[in-house]
Amino acid sequence: MTTVGILGGGQLARMLALAGAPLGLRFLVMDTAADACAGQCAPLLVGDYRDEAALAEFASRVDVATFDFENVPAESARWLSERVPVFPNPDALAVAQDRLAEKTLFRDLGIPVPAFADVDSRAGLDAAVARVGLPCILKTRRLGYDGKGQFRLREPADLDRAWDALGAQAGKVGLIVEAFVPFEREYSVVAVRGRDGAFRAWPLTANWHVDGVLSASLAPAAAPGALAREAQAHACALAERLDYVGAFALELFCRDGRLLANEMAPRVHNSGHWTIEGAETSQFENHLRAVLGLPLGATDARGNACMLNWIGAMPDPLPVLAASGGHWHDYGKAPREGRKVGHATLRADDAAALAATLAQVGAALGREPQVAPVVAALSA
Ligand code: AMP
Repeated sequence: MTTVGILGGGQLARMLALAGAPLGLRFLVMDTAADACAGQCAPLLVGDYRDEAALAEFASRVDVATFDFENVPAESARWLSERVPVFPNPDALAVAQDRLAEKTLFRDLGIPVPAFADVDSRAGLDAAVARVGLPCILKTRRLGYDGKGQFRLREPADLDRAWDALGAQAGKVGLIVEAFVPFEREYSVVAVRGRDGAFRAWPLTANWHVDGVLSASLAPAAAPGALAREAQAHACALAERLDYVGAFALELFCRDGRLLANEMAPRVHNSGHWTIEGAETSQFENHLRAVLGLPLGATDARGNACMLNWIGAMPDPLPVLAASGGHWHDYGKAPREGRKVGHATLRADDAAALAATLAQVGAALGREPQVAPVVAALSA
């Protein structure tokens, strides 16, 4: 019996545990919170990721370790990797934790990126904005997610405000300035690389964010085939350079038909949740296959799928459950403003049928603004 250890016990760990059950896997999830939602589906070890005694107990009870949370301290991941196989490797995790290291790697690999510059002081902010230009975004290098730790700069007067908001972080997690990209569309490539180097990518996914948080994903994205192939080639180059093992996402902006990389997530990703019902093999199952050294499953789409995120509180499930191809995911979390508490996936055999179901479900839930851009993309 193989036990997979997962550092972080949120909805990603929960969905990994659910995907692993048919494979006969056992799990141990470690989280700092006693009510971490993966604990409803797998044994939970409560402990701090920096606590060696807790990490030692975790290591003694698992055969292989992975993450649902990319901000596990890289030193903890390294300490663990001396005791038990850890995938993805701690060096890949360290690169993905730092926006500056990540963007520098993208550039080295020839993956186009928005202009960027690092910032370590107030004078450094002036110099960085002079190089990158306005409008731009000041972001923390580490520990930012879902648009947190970001400040948009539109005019010179915003520099003081941005420094007031984030300057204190310069000495702690570091700062980076990035050019603001007036994108037509955001995409992600969710991909997986096995221990033997085998690489597979799911079809390109189109994503819509609200206040920096993912709201809806559509796959396959209604995008030219050449764009999808380019995005997948970037993901493959990245995975090979990092000797990456497991599933990951590469987030991209598309402007004037050209791709610019934003960031990578070194784990299964919210924009890949549609793969549970919408692909031959889900990102969760393939991540487990990868870290266990098993053959990867096919990543082909089964028709068309749209995922809708539920933020703050769960809506009424009935319109989704009553819809053809409607699937419901409640993460078992207490409602809280801004919190990802669940999602729904709608799947159909073709784009027109998916657009019709989406419009119907959106109207029944009073969520027309959330579904409208997806329906428009499907109908374009
Ligand atoms: P991030 O935490 O970097 O993934 O940012 C969250 C969201 O903020 C992205 O998905 C975009 O919608 C938006 N965003 C981040 N960086 C930029 C940028 N350089 N230009 C335009 N929008 C951005």
